[in-house]
Amino acid sequence: MKKHVLIIGGGFAGLAAGVYLAEVGHKVEILERRAFLGGRAYSFLDSSGAWDLDSRDVIDNGQHLFMGCYYETFKFLKKLGTDHLIKLQSQPRVDFLDSELGKLSLNCPSLPPPLHLAIGLMRLKGLSLIEKLNTLRVGTVLNLSQEKLEKQLGQLTVKEWLVKAGQSERVQTRFWDMLSVATLNEEPDVAAATLLAKVLQQGFGGSRTDSCMAVSSVGLSELYTEQARSFIEERDGKISLRTSAKRLLFADGICTGIELANGETVKADIYISAVPYFALRQFLPEKLVSSNQYFAAWQSFKSSPIISIYLWFDQAITDLQFAGLLNARLQWLFNKNLIISSSKRDRQLLTFVISAAHKFQNFSKQQLIDIALEDLYKFIPAAKNAKLLKSLVIKEQHATHSATVESEKHRPEQKSPIKNLLLAGDWTKTGLPATIEGAVLSGRICADIVNHL
Ligand SMILES: Cc1cc2nc3c(=O)[nH]c(=O)nc-3n(C[C@H](O)[C@H](O)[C@H](O)COP(=O)(O)OP(=O)(O)OC[C@H]3O[C@@H](n4cnc5c(N)ncnc54)[C@H](O)[C@@H]3O)c2cc1C
Repeated sequence: MKKHVLIIGGGFAGLAAGVYLAEVGHKVEILERRAFLGGRAYSFLDSSGAWDLDSRDVIDNGQHLFMGCYYETFKFLKKLGTDHLIKLQSQPRVDFLDSELGKLSLNCPSLPPPLHLAIGLMRLKGLSLIEKLNTLRVGTVLNLSQEKLEKQLGQLTVKEWLVKAGQSERVQTRFWDMLSVATLNEEPDVAAATLLAKVLQQGFGGSRTDSCMAVSSVGLSELYTEQARSFIEERDGKISLRTSAKRLLFADGICTGIELANGETVKADIYISAVPYFALRQFLPEKLVSSNQYFAAWQSFKSSPIISIYLWFDQAITDLQFAGLLNARLQWLFNKNLIISSSKRDRQLLTFVISAAHKFQNFSKQQLIDIALEDLYKFIPAAKNAKLLKSLVIKEQHATHSATVESEKHRPEQKSPIKNLLLAGDWTKTGLPATIEGAVLSGRICADIVNHL
Protein backbone atom coordinates (compact mmCIF):
# COMPACT_ATOMS: atom_id res chain seq x y z
CA MET A 1 0.00 0.00 0.00
CA LYS A 2 1.28 3.49 -0.85
CA LYS A 3 2.15 5.61 2.16
CA HIS A 4 2.58 9.27 3.01
CA VAL A 5 6.18 9.58 4.22
CA LEU A 6 7.59 12.66 5.95
CA ILE A 7 11.38 12.92 5.86
CA ILE A 8 13.25 15.41 8.05
CA GLY A 9 16.53 16.49 6.45
CA GLY A 10 17.54 17.10 2.82
CA GLY A 11 21.12 15.78 2.80
CA PHE A 12 22.28 12.68 0.91
CA ALA A 13 20.42 10.36 3.33
CA GLY A 14 17.06 12.17 3.22
CA LEU A 15 17.19 12.72 -0.53
CA ALA A 16 18.15 9.09 -1.23
CA ALA A 17 15.25 7.87 0.93
CA GLY A 18 12.93 10.35 -0.81
CA VAL A 19 13.99 9.39 -4.33
CA TYR A 20 13.67 5.64 -3.75
CA LEU A 21 10.27 6.05 -2.08
CA ALA A 22 8.89 8.45 -4.69
CA GLU A 23 10.07 6.09 -7.43
CA VAL A 24 7.67 3.36 -6.28
CA GLY A 25 4.74 5.71 -5.76
CA HIS A 26 4.83 6.69 -2.07
CA LYS A 27 3.89 10.29 -1.33
CA VAL A 28 7.11 11.92 -0.15
CA GLU A 29 7.49 15.18 1.74
CA ILE A 30 10.90 16.46 2.81
CA LEU A 31 11.35 19.13 5.46
CA GLU A 32 14.69 20.96 5.28
CA ARG A 33 15.72 23.54 7.87
CA ARG A 34 18.00 25.51 5.55
CA ALA A 35 17.23 27.47 2.38
CA PHE A 36 18.99 24.84 0.26
CA LEU A 37 19.39 21.07 0.02
CA GLY A 38 22.59 19.06 0.42
CA GLY A 39 23.28 19.06 4.15
CA ARG A 40 27.00 18.71 4.81
CA ALA A 41 27.69 17.90 1.15
CA TYR A 42 26.78 21.15 -0.58
CA SER A 43 28.54 23.82 -2.62
CA PHE A 44 28.25 27.55 -3.21
CA LEU A 45 29.75 30.23 -5.43
CA ASP A 46 32.63 32.22 -3.99
CA SER A 47 32.02 35.95 -3.85
CA SER A 48 34.43 38.72 -3.11
CA GLY A 49 33.89 39.20 0.65
CA ALA A 50 36.65 41.39 2.03
CA TRP A 51 38.94 40.54 -0.91
CA ASP A 52 39.54 42.14 -4.30
CA LEU A 53 39.11 38.80 -6.02
CA ASP A 54 35.51 37.89 -6.83
CA SER A 55 36.40 34.45 -8.16
CA ARG A 56 32.88 33.02 -8.64
CA ASP A 57 34.61 29.65 -8.19
CA VAL A 58 32.49 26.74 -7.02
CA ILE A 59 33.37 25.96 -3.42
CA ASP A 60 32.40 22.66 -1.79
CA ASN A 61 31.72 22.71 1.89
CA GLY A 62 34.97 20.77 2.20
CA GLN A 63 36.49 18.62 -0.53
CA HIS A 64 34.67 15.29 -0.76
CA LEU A 65 36.44 12.19 -2.09
CA PHE A 66 34.45 9.29 -3.47
CA MET A 67 35.73 5.78 -4.11
CA GLY A 68 34.98 3.20 -6.77
CA CYS A 69 33.41 1.08 -4.01
CA TYR A 70 30.68 3.70 -3.37
CA TYR A 71 28.14 1.40 -5.05
CA GLU A 72 25.06 2.88 -3.36
CA THR A 73 26.15 6.42 -4.24
CA PHE A 74 26.78 5.58 -7.89
CA LYS A 75 23.42 3.79 -8.11
CA PHE A 76 21.68 6.84 -6.62
CA LEU A 77 23.48 9.29 -8.93
CA LYS A 78 22.71 7.07 -11.92
CA LYS A 79 19.03 7.28 -11.06
CA LEU A 80 19.40 11.07 -11.09
CA GLY A 81 21.37 10.93 -14.36
CA THR A 82 24.51 12.50 -12.88
CA ASP A 83 26.89 9.58 -12.25
CA HIS A 84 28.92 10.70 -15.30
CA LEU A 85 29.85 13.87 -13.38
CA ILE A 86 32.05 11.82 -11.04
CA LYS A 87 35.62 11.52 -12.30
CA LEU A 88 36.89 8.06 -11.37
CA GLN A 89 40.60 7.22 -11.63
CA SER A 90 41.41 4.64 -14.30
CA GLN A 91 43.93 3.02 -11.97
CA PRO A 92 44.13 3.28 -8.15
CA ARG A 93 46.74 5.87 -7.26
CA VAL A 94 47.44 8.14 -4.31
CA ASP A 95 50.34 10.61 -4.33
CA PHE A 96 52.04 11.72 -1.15
CA LEU A 97 54.40 14.62 -0.58
CA ASP A 98 57.31 14.22 1.81
CA SER A 99 59.46 17.22 2.72
CA GLU A 100 62.65 15.13 2.33
CA LEU A 101 61.79 12.46 -0.25
CA GLY A 102 59.60 14.63 -2.49
CA LYS A 103 56.71 12.90 -4.26
CA LEU A 104 55.90 9.29 -3.36
CA SER A 105 53.16 7.37 -5.14
CA LEU A 106 51.03 4.44 -4.13
CA ASN A 107 50.39 3.27 -7.65
CA CYS A 108 48.50 0.00 -7.99
CA PRO A 109 49.15 -1.89 -11.25
CA SER A 110 46.61 -3.72 -13.42
CA LEU A 111 46.52 -6.92 -11.38
CA PRO A 112 43.66 -8.66 -9.60
CA PRO A 113 42.97 -7.33 -6.10
CA PRO A 114 44.40 -7.47 -3.50
CA LEU A 115 47.59 -8.22 -5.47
CA HIS A 116 47.37 -4.75 -7.04
CA LEU A 117 47.61 -3.17 -3.58
CA ALA A 118 50.40 -5.53 -2.46
CA ILE A 119 52.52 -4.61 -5.49
CA GLY A 120 51.61 -0.94 -5.08
CA LEU A 121 52.83 -1.05 -1.49
CA MET A 122 56.03 -2.85 -2.47
CA ARG A 123 56.81 -0.06 -4.93
CA LEU A 124 56.08 2.74 -2.44
CA LYS A 125 59.24 4.62 -1.50
CA GLY A 126 59.97 5.65 2.09
CA LEU A 127 59.31 2.31 3.83
CA SER A 128 61.73 -0.58 4.37
CA LEU A 129 61.07 -3.97 2.77
CA ILE A 130 60.28 -5.48 6.18
CA GLU A 131 57.80 -2.68 6.88
CA LYS A 132 56.15 -3.17 3.50
CA LEU A 133 55.89 -6.93 4.00
CA ASN A 134 54.45 -6.30 7.45
CA THR A 135 51.69 -4.07 6.10
CA LEU A 136 50.40 -7.07 4.17
CA ARG A 137 49.69 -8.83 7.49
CA VAL A 138 46.81 -6.42 7.98
CA GLY A 139 45.33 -7.82 4.76
CA THR A 140 44.20 -10.96 6.63
CA VAL A 141 40.99 -9.10 7.52
CA LEU A 142 40.00 -8.67 3.88
CA ASN A 143 37.95 -11.86 3.77
CA LEU A 144 36.44 -11.80 7.26
CA SER A 145 32.64 -11.78 7.63
CA GLN A 146 31.12 -8.81 9.51
CA GLU A 147 30.47 -11.11 12.47
CA LYS A 148 34.08 -12.31 12.64
CA LEU A 149 35.36 -8.80 12.09
CA GLU A 150 33.37 -7.54 15.07
CA LYS A 151 34.48 -10.49 17.19
CA GLN A 152 38.17 -10.03 16.38
CA LEU A 153 38.38 -6.23 16.28
CA GLY A 154 35.22 -4.96 18.01
CA GLN A 155 37.03 -3.92 21.19
CA LEU A 156 40.12 -2.46 19.52
CA THR A 157 41.08 1.01 18.42
CA VAL A 158 42.85 1.37 15.09
CA LYS A 159 46.12 1.96 16.95
CA GLU A 160 45.71 -1.16 19.12
CA TRP A 161 44.93 -3.26 16.07
CA LEU A 162 47.92 -1.97 14.12
CA VAL A 163 50.29 -2.60 17.03
CA LYS A 164 48.86 -6.12 17.39
CA ALA A 165 49.37 -6.66 13.67
CA GLY A 166 53.07 -5.76 14.06
CA GLN A 167 52.96 -2.35 12.32
CA SER A 168 55.96 -0.20 13.27
CA GLU A 169 55.47 3.33 14.57
CA ARG A 170 56.86 4.64 11.27
CA VAL A 171 54.43 2.66 9.08
CA GLN A 172 51.63 3.78 11.28
CA THR A 173 52.43 7.48 10.95
CA ARG A 174 53.45 7.35 7.30
CA PHE A 175 50.67 5.16 5.98
CA TRP A 176 47.96 3.80 8.26
CA ASP A 177 47.27 6.98 10.23
CA MET A 178 46.75 8.95 7.00
CA LEU A 179 44.32 6.35 5.73
CA SER A 180 42.53 6.07 9.05
CA VAL A 181 42.12 9.82 9.66
CA ALA A 182 41.05 10.43 6.06
CA THR A 183 38.42 7.70 5.99
CA LEU A 184 37.18 7.69 9.60
CA ASN A 185 37.73 11.36 10.52
CA GLU A 186 39.08 10.33 13.88
CA GLU A 187 42.49 9.78 15.50
CA PRO A 188 43.78 6.19 15.37
CA ASP A 189 44.13 6.00 19.16
CA VAL A 190 40.34 6.27 19.57
CA ALA A 191 38.91 5.28 16.16
CA ALA A 192 37.18 1.90 15.83
CA ALA A 193 39.37 -0.77 14.19
CA THR A 194 36.30 -2.48 12.69
CA LEU A 195 35.62 0.58 10.57
CA LEU A 196 39.11 0.76 9.13
CA ALA A 197 38.90 -2.97 8.41
CA LYS A 198 35.61 -2.37 6.59
CA VAL A 199 37.22 0.39 4.51
CA LEU A 200 40.00 -2.03 3.55
CA GLN A 201 37.51 -4.76 2.71
CA GLN A 202 35.38 -2.49 0.56
CA GLY A 203 38.20 -0.59 -1.07
CA PHE A 204 40.73 -3.35 -1.56
CA GLY A 205 38.88 -6.66 -1.26
CA GLY A 206 36.66 -6.33 -4.33
CA SER A 207 37.39 -5.27 -7.89
CA ARG A 208 40.32 -3.05 -8.89
CA THR A 209 37.95 -0.20 -9.66
CA ASP A 210 36.73 -0.33 -6.05
CA SER A 211 40.06 1.13 -4.88
CA CYS A 212 40.04 3.98 -7.39
CA MET A 213 39.53 7.45 -5.95
CA ALA A 214 36.94 9.76 -7.46
CA VAL A 215 35.95 13.41 -7.28
CA SER A 216 32.94 15.37 -8.45
CA SER A 217 33.70 17.46 -11.53
CA VAL A 218 30.96 19.90 -10.51
CA GLY A 219 30.15 21.47 -7.16
CA LEU A 220 28.46 19.02 -4.80
CA SER A 221 25.10 20.82 -4.90
CA GLU A 222 25.08 20.61 -8.71
CA LEU A 223 25.78 16.89 -8.50
CA TYR A 224 22.54 15.78 -6.87
CA THR A 225 20.37 18.27 -5.02
CA GLU A 226 18.22 19.86 -7.72
CA GLN A 227 18.04 16.59 -9.66
CA ALA A 228 16.74 14.81 -6.55
CA ARG A 229 14.26 17.61 -5.96
CA SER A 230 12.90 17.34 -9.54
CA PHE A 231 12.75 13.54 -9.29
CA ILE A 232 10.63 13.76 -6.15
CA GLU A 233 8.44 16.67 -7.25
CA GLU A 234 7.72 15.08 -10.64
CA ARG A 235 6.28 12.14 -8.70
CA ASP A 236 3.88 14.26 -6.68
CA GLY A 237 6.32 14.77 -3.79
CA LYS A 238 7.00 18.00 -1.97
CA ILE A 239 10.14 19.63 -0.62
CA SER A 240 9.78 22.41 1.94
CA LEU A 241 12.88 24.50 2.51
CA ARG A 242 13.35 26.79 5.53
CA THR A 243 11.15 24.38 7.44
CA SER A 244 12.58 23.30 10.76
CA ALA A 245 11.31 20.31 12.72
CA LYS A 246 11.22 20.96 16.45
CA ARG A 247 9.73 17.91 18.09
CA LEU A 248 8.44 14.46 17.24
CA LEU A 249 5.03 13.76 18.75
CA PHE A 250 4.12 10.34 20.09
CA ALA A 251 0.91 8.71 21.34
CA ASP A 252 0.01 5.07 21.98
CA GLY A 253 3.47 3.86 21.01
CA ILE A 254 3.58 5.43 17.55
CA CYS A 255 4.74 8.71 16.07
CA THR A 256 1.73 10.96 15.46
CA GLY A 257 3.28 14.06 13.92
CA ILE A 258 6.09 16.58 13.76
CA GLU A 259 5.85 19.91 15.48
CA LEU A 260 7.61 22.56 13.41
CA ALA A 261 9.54 25.55 14.71
CA ASN A 262 6.73 27.81 13.42
CA GLY A 263 4.25 26.04 15.71
CA GLU A 264 2.46 24.07 12.98
CA THR A 265 2.07 20.29 13.17
CA VAL A 266 2.51 18.07 10.12
CA LYS A 267 1.33 14.49 9.91
CA ALA A 268 2.00 11.41 7.79
CA ASP A 269 1.87 7.59 7.94
CA ILE A 270 5.63 7.12 8.29
CA TYR A 271 8.35 9.45 9.60
CA ILE A 272 12.02 9.26 8.64
CA SER A 273 14.58 11.27 10.56
CA ALA A 274 17.52 12.00 8.23
CA VAL A 275 19.24 14.56 10.45
CA PRO A 276 22.52 14.19 12.38
CA TYR A 277 22.44 12.62 15.86
CA PHE A 278 22.64 15.95 17.71
CA ALA A 279 19.58 17.31 15.85
CA LEU A 280 17.51 14.19 16.45
CA ARG A 281 18.41 14.36 20.15
CA GLN A 282 16.39 17.60 20.34
CA PHE A 283 13.27 16.05 18.76
CA LEU A 284 12.80 13.20 21.21
CA PRO A 285 10.83 13.37 24.46
CA GLU A 286 13.02 12.72 27.49
CA LYS A 287 10.70 9.96 28.68
CA LEU A 288 11.17 8.01 25.45
CA VAL A 289 14.96 8.34 25.63
CA SER A 290 15.23 7.31 29.29
CA SER A 291 12.93 4.33 28.85
CA ASN A 292 14.31 2.94 25.64
CA GLN A 293 17.82 1.58 25.09
CA TYR A 294 17.58 2.10 21.31
CA PHE A 295 17.36 5.88 21.85
CA ALA A 296 19.43 6.05 25.05
CA ALA A 297 22.44 4.25 23.54
CA TRP A 298 23.73 7.10 21.34
CA GLN A 299 22.96 10.07 23.59
CA SER A 300 26.64 10.46 24.48
CA PHE A 301 27.84 10.62 20.85
CA LYS A 302 30.28 13.42 20.10
CA SER A 303 31.35 15.12 16.87
CA SER A 304 34.67 15.21 15.06
CA PRO A 305 35.55 18.38 13.10
CA ILE A 306 37.05 18.91 9.65
CA ILE A 307 38.74 22.16 8.65
CA SER A 308 39.07 23.15 5.00
CA ILE A 309 41.41 25.95 3.96
CA TYR A 310 41.05 27.45 0.47
CA LEU A 311 43.95 29.43 -0.96
CA TRP A 312 43.84 31.24 -4.32
CA PHE A 313 47.23 31.90 -5.96
CA ASP A 314 48.04 34.04 -8.98
CA GLN A 315 49.85 31.16 -10.73
CA ALA A 316 50.03 27.35 -10.86
CA ILE A 317 51.90 25.78 -7.95
CA THR A 318 51.34 22.08 -8.55
CA ASP A 319 50.06 19.78 -11.27
CA LEU A 320 49.00 17.08 -8.81
CA GLN A 321 45.23 16.58 -8.58
CA PHE A 322 45.44 15.68 -4.90
CA ALA A 323 48.14 14.53 -2.51
CA GLY A 324 48.56 13.37 1.08
CA LEU A 325 51.02 15.47 3.07
CA LEU A 326 53.31 13.34 5.22
CA ASN A 327 54.27 14.47 8.74
CA ALA A 328 52.41 17.75 8.40
CA ARG A 329 49.61 19.51 10.23
CA LEU A 330 47.61 19.63 7.01
CA GLN A 331 46.75 16.19 5.71
CA TRP A 332 45.60 16.63 2.11
CA LEU A 333 46.04 19.08 -0.70
CA PHE A 334 43.45 19.26 -3.50
CA ASN A 335 44.00 21.14 -6.73
CA LYS A 336 40.56 22.50 -7.60
CA ASN A 337 41.71 23.54 -11.11
CA LEU A 338 42.08 19.84 -11.96
CA ILE A 339 38.91 18.78 -10.16
CA ILE A 340 36.14 21.22 -11.02
CA SER A 341 35.77 21.36 -14.79
CA SER A 342 34.55 24.97 -14.83
CA SER A 343 37.44 26.35 -12.76
CA LYS A 344 39.53 29.21 -14.13
CA ARG A 345 43.01 28.44 -15.43
CA ASP A 346 44.70 31.80 -14.97
CA ARG A 347 45.15 31.20 -11.26
CA GLN A 348 45.23 28.20 -8.92
CA LEU A 349 42.80 27.32 -6.15
CA LEU A 350 44.18 24.82 -3.65
CA THR A 351 42.15 23.27 -0.84
CA PHE A 352 43.87 21.90 2.25
CA VAL A 353 42.07 19.55 4.60
CA ILE A 354 42.59 18.79 8.28
CA SER A 355 40.38 15.90 9.39
CA ALA A 356 39.83 14.98 13.05
CA ALA A 357 40.80 18.61 13.63
CA HIS A 358 40.06 18.63 17.38
CA LYS A 359 43.22 20.48 18.34
CA PHE A 360 42.77 23.16 15.67
CA GLN A 361 39.16 24.00 16.46
CA ASN A 362 39.97 27.12 18.44
CA PHE A 363 42.64 28.41 16.06
CA SER A 364 41.76 31.68 14.37
CA LYS A 365 41.28 31.75 10.59
CA GLN A 366 44.54 33.67 10.20
CA GLN A 367 46.43 31.09 12.28
CA LEU A 368 45.07 28.31 10.05
CA ILE A 369 46.03 30.16 6.88
CA ASP A 370 49.54 30.71 8.28
CA ILE A 371 49.82 26.99 9.04
CA ALA A 372 48.65 26.12 5.53
CA LEU A 373 51.21 28.41 3.94
CA GLU A 374 54.05 27.17 6.18
CA ASP A 375 53.24 23.55 5.36
CA LEU A 376 52.81 24.30 1.67
CA TYR A 377 56.23 26.03 1.47
CA LYS A 378 57.78 23.02 3.19
CA PHE A 379 56.49 20.64 0.52
CA ILE A 380 56.57 22.92 -2.51
CA PRO A 381 59.21 25.64 -1.85
CA ALA A 382 58.54 27.23 -5.26
CA ALA A 383 55.08 28.17 -3.96
CA LYS A 384 56.77 31.12 -2.23
CA ASN A 385 56.99 32.79 -5.65
CA ALA A 386 53.23 32.80 -6.05
CA LYS A 387 51.08 35.61 -4.73
CA LEU A 388 48.23 34.70 -2.41
CA LEU A 389 45.15 36.38 -3.87
CA LYS A 390 42.53 35.25 -1.43
CA SER A 391 41.75 32.74 1.33
CA LEU A 392 38.75 31.10 2.91
CA VAL A 393 38.51 28.83 5.95
CA ILE A 394 35.54 26.54 6.62
CA LYS A 395 35.39 24.90 10.03
CA GLU A 396 32.81 22.11 10.23
CA GLN A 397 32.58 21.40 13.92
CA HIS A 398 30.08 18.56 13.36
CA ALA A 399 31.67 17.12 10.22
CA THR A 400 30.90 13.56 11.37
CA HIS A 401 30.17 11.79 14.63
CA SER A 402 33.32 10.70 16.42
CA ALA A 403 33.86 7.12 15.19
CA THR A 404 35.17 5.61 18.42
CA VAL A 405 35.09 1.97 19.54
CA GLU A 406 32.28 2.86 21.94
CA SER A 407 30.14 4.82 19.43
CA GLU A 408 30.48 2.04 16.88
CA LYS A 409 28.74 -0.31 19.34
CA HIS A 410 25.81 2.09 19.73
CA ARG A 411 24.94 3.32 16.24
CA PRO A 412 21.18 2.72 15.90
CA GLU A 413 19.71 0.56 13.16
CA GLN A 414 17.41 2.29 10.69
CA LYS A 415 14.37 0.43 12.05
CA SER A 416 13.42 1.88 15.42
CA PRO A 417 11.21 0.28 18.09
CA ILE A 418 8.53 2.84 17.09
CA LYS A 419 6.76 1.11 14.21
CA ASN A 420 6.34 4.19 11.99
CA LEU A 421 9.65 5.97 12.79
CA LEU A 422 12.87 5.20 10.91
CA LEU A 423 16.32 6.73 11.23
CA ALA A 424 18.60 7.53 8.29
CA GLY A 425 21.90 9.40 8.21
CA ASP A 426 25.61 8.66 7.98
CA TRP A 427 25.76 8.13 11.75
CA THR A 428 23.21 5.29 11.83
CA LYS A 429 24.33 1.67 11.76
CA THR A 430 25.53 0.90 8.27
CA GLY A 431 28.81 -0.90 9.03
CA LEU A 432 30.50 1.93 7.08
CA PRO A 433 32.23 5.08 8.29
CA ALA A 434 30.20 8.32 8.31
CA THR A 435 30.47 9.04 4.60
CA ILE A 436 28.30 9.85 1.62
CA GLU A 437 28.13 6.13 0.87
CA GLY A 438 26.89 5.41 4.41
CA ALA A 439 24.34 8.22 4.19
CA VAL A 440 22.92 7.02 0.84
CA LEU A 441 22.89 3.42 2.05
CA SER A 442 20.95 4.39 5.20
CA GLY A 443 18.38 6.24 3.07
CA ARG A 444 17.99 3.28 0.72
CA ILE A 445 17.57 0.89 3.67
CA CYS A 446 14.79 3.12 5.07
CA ALA A 447 13.03 3.05 1.70
CA ASP A 448 13.27 -0.77 1.64
CA ILE A 449 11.81 -0.96 5.16
CA VAL A 450 8.87 1.29 4.20
CA ASN A 451 8.20 -0.91 1.15
CA HIS A 452 7.89 -3.93 3.43
CA LEU A 453 5.71 -2.37 6.14
C1 LIG B 1 34.20 19.00 5.47
C2 LIG B 1 33.65 17.62 5.20
C3 LIG B 1 34.36 16.76 4.40
C4 LIG B 1 33.84 15.48 4.15
N1 LIG B 1 34.52 14.65 3.30
C5 LIG B 1 33.94 13.50 2.91
C6 LIG B 1 34.56 12.70 1.91
O1 LIG B 1 35.64 13.03 1.41
N2 LIG B 1 33.91 11.58 1.49
C7 LIG B 1 32.71 11.19 2.01
O2 LIG B 1 32.16 10.18 1.56
N3 LIG B 1 32.13 11.91 3.00
C8 LIG B 1 32.70 13.05 3.46
N4 LIG B 1 32.09 13.82 4.41
C9 LIG B 1 30.89 13.30 5.08
C10 LIG B 1 29.62 13.55 4.28
O3 LIG B 1 29.49 14.92 3.97
C11 LIG B 1 28.43 13.13 5.14
O4 LIG B 1 28.62 11.79 5.55
C12 LIG B 1 27.10 13.19 4.42
O5 LIG B 1 26.96 14.38 3.70
C13 LIG B 1 26.00 13.07 5.48
O6 LIG B 1 24.73 13.13 4.87
P1 LIG B 1 23.43 13.01 5.77
O7 LIG B 1 22.28 13.14 4.86
O8 LIG B 1 23.51 11.83 6.65
O9 LIG B 1 23.46 14.26 6.78
P2 LIG B 1 23.48 15.90 6.46
O10 LIG B 1 24.20 16.07 5.20
O11 LIG B 1 23.96 16.50 7.68
O12 LIG B 1 21.95 16.19 6.21
C14 LIG B 1 21.06 16.46 7.27
C15 LIG B 1 20.10 17.56 6.84
O13 LIG B 1 19.15 17.74 7.89
C16 LIG B 1 18.86 19.12 8.00
N5 LIG B 1 18.32 19.39 9.32
C17 LIG B 1 18.95 19.38 10.52
N6 LIG B 1 18.11 19.71 11.51
C18 LIG B 1 16.89 19.89 10.94
C19 LIG B 1 15.62 20.23 11.45
N7 LIG B 1 15.42 20.47 12.75
N8 LIG B 1 14.57 20.33 10.59
C20 LIG B 1 14.75 20.12 9.25
N9 LIG B 1 15.95 19.80 8.71
C21 LIG B 1 17.01 19.67 9.55
C22 LIG B 1 20.23 19.77 7.78
O14 LIG B 1 20.09 21.15 7.44
C23 LIG B 1 20.79 18.91 6.65
O15 LIG B 1 20.44 19.44 5.38
C24 LIG B 1 32.61 15.07 4.74
C25 LIG B 1 31.91 15.95 5.56
C26 LIG B 1 32.42 17.22 5.80
C27 LIG B 1 31.63 18.16 6.68
